[in-house]
Amino acid sequence: MARYTGPVCRLCRREGVKLYLKGEKCFTDKCPVSRRAYPPGQHGQGRRKLSEYGVQLREKQKARRTYGIMEGQFARYFGKASKQTGVTGQALLESLERRLDNVVYRMGLASSRPEARQLVRHGHFQVNGRRVDIPSYSVKTGDVVEVREASRQKTRFKEMAQSTSRGIPAWLEVDAEALRGTVVRMPNREEIDAPVQEQLIVEWYSRV
Ligand code: SF4
Repeated sequence: MARYTGPVCRLCRREGVKLYLKGEKCFTDKCPVSRRAYPPGQHGQGRRKLSEYGVQLREKQKARRTYGIMEGQFARYFGKASKQTGVTGQALLESLERRLDNVVYRMGLASSRPEARQLVRHGHFQVNGRRVDIPSYSVKTGDVVEVREASRQKTRFKEMAQSTSRGIPAWLEVDAEALRGTVVRMPNREEIDAPVQEQLIVEWYSRV
């Protein structure tokens, strides 16, 4: 599945918020969102008044970029969410949050979602004892996600497991020593840290 490979800090500056795509750097004063709090490009510092459509579009892009998903795949996530019972926006965020790369990030085993995606792609994880290298794999209640035996000695994992400063959401139960996490239930909206107003995304899709 394709992914965005350009400069990521631009994406945060475009959205005007930190999307935490660079790991450690995001928490330092080198973060470009803090240093240059205006959109990138030649006209970044010009007047910027968004239309209603523009506001909805930005919200959709923000969600997409937070989880590192391309346009087509995001539209498919939305299509599936809109067929579910309940609130579409929340169903959308829940399905994004259940992605394996996001779960690895939320477990504290990667410093950012892009890094988690790469670690999953490189085959460092297993789900319920079976190797899974698909970042979009959707976890379900009871799934056990862990670092594979062959990858356990990587100092990266050890360091990450020690520094769980981000906090682990209550829907995941993590054993940092064992580099393992269990999905104890599905996430609810308050536990999803994506800086988006999902209703605006629903409104955006309802007019395109
Ligand atoms: Fe770059 Fe991270 Fe700051 Fe975003 S939050 S601009 S990815 S350093």
